Amino acid sequence: MVFPLVALSAIVGLAAVGHSLPHNARPAQVKRALADVSDTYDYIVIGGGTAGLTVANRLTEDPKKKVLVIEHGELGDTIDLLLPNATATLSQNARYMWNFTSVPQTNINGRTDKGYAAAVVGGSSSVNGMFMDRPSKADLDAWATLGNKGWDWNGLIPYFKKATKFTAPSVQSISSYGYTFDASFYGNGGPVQASFPPFQWPFQKTCLEAWNGMDIPFIKEGASGSKSGVIWVPNTLDPVNETRSYARTAYYDPIRTRPNYVLLYNTNVQKLVFSTSGPLAAKGVLVKGKDGTTKTIFAAKEIILSAGTFGSPWLLQRSGVGPKAILARTNIPLVLDFPEVGQNFQDQPNFFAYFSLTKQPIPNPDYWRANATYNAETWVNYTQHHGGPYTLALGNNAAFMPISAVVDDVAELIGAAKAQNPATYLPSTYTPALLKGYKAQLAIMLNHFQHDSSPAFETPFASGPFQAMSVQKPLSRGTVFLNTTDPFNSQPLIDYRVMSNPLDWDMAVAAFRYLIKYLSTPGMQSLGLVYQSPIPANPGNLTDAQIIDLMKASLMAASFAHPSGTCAMLPKDMGGVVGSDLLVYGIKGLSIVDASVIPLLPSCHTTQLTYAIAEKAADLIKGRSGPGH
Ligand SMILES: Cc1cc2nc3c(=O)[nH]c(=O)nc-3n(C[C@H](O)[C@H](O)[C@H](O)COP(=O)(O)OP(=O)(O)OC[C@H]3O[C@@H](n4cnc5c(N)ncnc54)[C@H](O)[C@@H]3O)c2cc1C
Repeated sequence: MVFPLVALSAIVGLAAVGHSLPHNARPAQVKRALADVSDTYDYIVIGGGTAGLTVANRLTEDPKKKVLVIEHGELGDTIDLLLPNATATLSQNARYMWNFTSVPQTNINGRTDKGYAAAVVGGSSSVNGMFMDRPSKADLDAWATLGNKGWDWNGLIPYFKKATKFTAPSVQSISSYGYTFDASFYGNGGPVQASFPPFQWPFQKTCLEAWNGMDIPFIKEGASGSKSGVIWVPNTLDPVNETRSYARTAYYDPIRTRPNYVLLYNTNVQKLVFSTSGPLAAKGVLVKGKDGTTKTIFAAKEIILSAGTFGSPWLLQRSGVGPKAILARTNIPLVLDFPEVGQNFQDQPNFFAYFSLTKQPIPNPDYWRANATYNAETWVNYTQHHGGPYTLALGNNAAFMPISAVVDDVAELIGAAKAQNPATYLPSTYTPALLKGYKAQLAIMLNHFQHDSSPAFETPFASGPFQAMSVQKPLSRGTVFLNTTDPFNSQPLIDYRVMSNPLDWDMAVAAFRYLIKYLSTPGMQSLGLVYQSPIPANPGNLTDAQIIDLMKASLMAASFAHPSGTCAMLPKDMGGVVGSDLLVYGIKGLSIVDASVIPLLPSCHTTQLTYAIAEKAADLIKGRSGPGH
């Protein structure tokens, strides 16, 4: 989840950037140039992000295995990477982001959205909203139903736990804010810290209690496998200093001195290098440093592609592995015609309701922004006592709605979906295999709709005067393809194809009405809620067509910052790029481990899921046998 640009002025934490944190959270690092690295490693991990650093940590547990991680971005050294309250601005920080923009989105008046992806050691876990939820059981079991043996709730939960160390909030925090949790669903010794901040704005209590009027339950622990309801959600937050816990601090810094581990940053992997004889095999990578120096480095055992949902298909395509029809328009030699690479692209479309709360109890974010003395006090509180509003990231609670709570006639929606010819609304580049895979995904989604087994909508509570609502199970699918006019220097063509299936509009309109109903509860109204442009004063009076027009014109965003699925883990005849062993079909020695392998996007934010995928992947890679292993 990300804050809307228009709301960034409300983020007080910006004022703090430029100060330094009192604790020494940044270990010294040895800079490495291309000249310092060997020609061959056992494993090469492409991308030092969320998944890449996780896999590299586990692979280097064996001192005999030499591992090289290559990261395009820098080793970030500014405090906003650690300061929870600065998280809202990080996604706008060009220094740490790829700065991708989508192609114009036809169904929202040609507007674009960002392609949210970080370029820094730690990847997107360095800049994200620190919201730490997990999928429902039904959503994970769906992956196994799609043909991925072992990738279900039971097969993944041990890895969610392995990645995490949960610290319960203090008794005082529990009594002040009403935090609920069940520690048994978390790990207690993993690298990523999970905890609740020791502060919430007073108005959050009213926002939470207002859900009592909305007929959805309060759930004690959303990580339990059942999360349809109102839940408290921990952050990826180190409870010692109340700083961000992310792939770098969790998986890299503590073990960075392992002699068999080399991290090469500020270095881009330009393309994969393949065998010149025998079966197609990935042998190495061509890399380019910031000074333009290039070098080919080889992997004796396996190359692990962890460049993210945009980076992984983009790199495959630049290496000649992708749709032949697209590669034919470039001067890149075709290595493998693989039409599925870059397809099955999913995110969660969303919109914001904007309002001001004119009767908020003090302190509140507006007061914080306006009152320099209070702001200064809170900074002292944070730096000296690790308390107060600077410990807040994007939020700690959310309502995950089953479809029956939001959509009036679920049976009608299901019927309409079944009556569609899915191909009508899918990308023209879809193959029969992709279509077969999509139909299987659709059957699962409709089954979930029918039985309310997984939430279909989410509204996370931010600590600002706006509220997001997202469609968690969109029927539309997008694509990520290289730009054929300049494949290496132009960003990839990111096409969310948001709202390309008209039934997504039906869900979005229902979601809008539901959100307005919530904002109209006596509890929310008691805060003096006044809608702000472009939301009209009485949004409940809007017709469906007017809601859609408003969404097309400005409200609807294509991305919830959870891009997924572009190198899907699925059987080959269902449009998969990797199998359940995460090896790329048709290429030896190459696996993909990142959010791009997600076959069907669950109703959740994707960091914890990516850590769990990577932890499981590390075990799979370690367990490989045969030549080279
Ligand atoms: C702004 C934002 C907010 C988010 N908020 C939340 C949230 O609150 N909660 C949540 O659960 N999820 C959130 N997410 C999603 C979550 O962070 C991601 O799904 C997850 O981190 C993805 O991990 P990954 O390993 O797939 O990719 P990444 O972590 O992005 O790692 C990919 C890495 O590969 C590198 N790379 C790419 N191409 C190359 C190349 N050619 N050569 C070398 N290196 C390369 C990149 O620079 C990057 O470091 C958010 C994401 C963003 C961007």
